[in-house]
Amino acid sequence: MQIGTGTQRRVYAAAMETFLGLLVVAALIGFALYKSATTPPVPANPHLVCPHCQSKGTVRTTMLKRKQGISGGKATGALLTGGISMLGTGLSRKQTMTHMACSNCSVEWDVV
Ligand SMILES: [Zn+2]
Repeated sequence: MQIGTGTQRRVYAAAMETFLGLLVVAALIGFALYKSATTPPVPANPHLVCPHCQSKGTVRTTMLKRKQGISGGKATGALLTGGISMLGTGLSRKQTMTHMACSNCSVEWDVV
């Protein structure tokens, strides 16, 4: 009976491991769903006028964080200053910009 209980214990441990693993996955999915559910929908800005179709109140804005690559001018400047300006700005930086989309004419554009 000793061998039997040992195997049972091992099976129980494996089952617990699987259960805990599933619990972690479920928690992650739940958290992701919670996060997406609590993100408030961005209402159309009533003051914005679409530059394309001139309609007011149809433009939706979303805040975006976009990685901005280094420009050629900045690279040359970094070389000239011995990389000092690179220390300040880095090779690439994330820039917050506003993404705008008109629901009337479906034109989309970014505002830096
Ligand atoms: Zn428009």
